[in-house]
Amino acid sequence: MPELPEVESVRRRIAPSLVRARIVGVDLRRPDLRQPFPRHFVKRLIRQTVLALTRRAKYLLAALSSGETLLMHLGMSGSFRVVSTRPATRAASPAADGDPHDHVVFHLSSGTALVFNDPRRFGVMDLVPAGAVDEHPLLSRLGPEPLSDAFDAAALSRACRGKRTSLKAALLDQRVVAGLGNIYASEALHVAGLSPRRRASILATPAGAPREAAERLAAAIKAVLTQAIARQSGDPYRDSRFLVYERQDARCLKPQCRGTIRRVMQSGRSTFYCPACQR
Ligand SMILES: [Zn+2]
Repeated sequence: MPELPEVESVRRRIAPSLVRARIVGVDLRRPDLRQPFPRHFVKRLIRQTVLALTRRAKYLLAALSSGETLLMHLGMSGSFRVVSTRPATRAASPAADGDPHDHVVFHLSSGTALVFNDPRRFGVMDLVPAGAVDEHPLLSRLGPEPLSDAFDAAALSRACRGKRTSLKAALLDQRVVAGLGNIYASEALHVAGLSPRRRASILATPAGAPREAAERLAAAIKAVLTQAIARQSGDPYRDSRFLVYERQDARCLKPQCRGTIRRVMQSGRSTFYCPACQR
């Protein structure tokens, strides 16, 4: 399941083909994904120019010249690919390869097509009226973007003040911080040296001010996401291995730590951590 870094890398990969291009045609091959496509979906897209492609948590947002925003979520198995639709390479066009999981094809004035493929169909596409993006039901309760200035130790401790859930559960709560999933929650807690099983309330003083652990955790979240985005973008000099995720029974990679990574279940999800250096 894609997390924030994967979605950000999709955004960076498809933006050059999409932004400033006009949508000249849309092939819609089913009535729904996780939910039905909005009314008049194709009609509302055709002839629109994509002004910008941004990301909010794990959602991609394409601002259209009509004022509406095309909201897209990859779900569990969704992916985008850009294909050329110029005659010389017509053989590679989406119509020719016949993948039954190509559910939406956006034909663009740039001579390319953007194909959305989603075998499990947990993806979402919606059209949001002008000025209503922040109020959309999927976005309205999201917490701060982890890589923005709005997210820092103060914001994190405020959100966790008095919370009786575990630190791991708090990081997966999209109201606390948006876009974090199972992988990067585990990785960030490891970098911060905090046990995923501790109570979230330890990040804040009784008055709600950030403790030192909140500073470490907020910085660790930003660091692991930034590194993951760089890795996704294909920087060959980055080590591609996770520190704890799916490394159960392996040696902890932290210098001077002699611990072994453990896998435990928390609220039905696997958590990976080192009991020796994560306290
Ligand atoms: Zn360790």
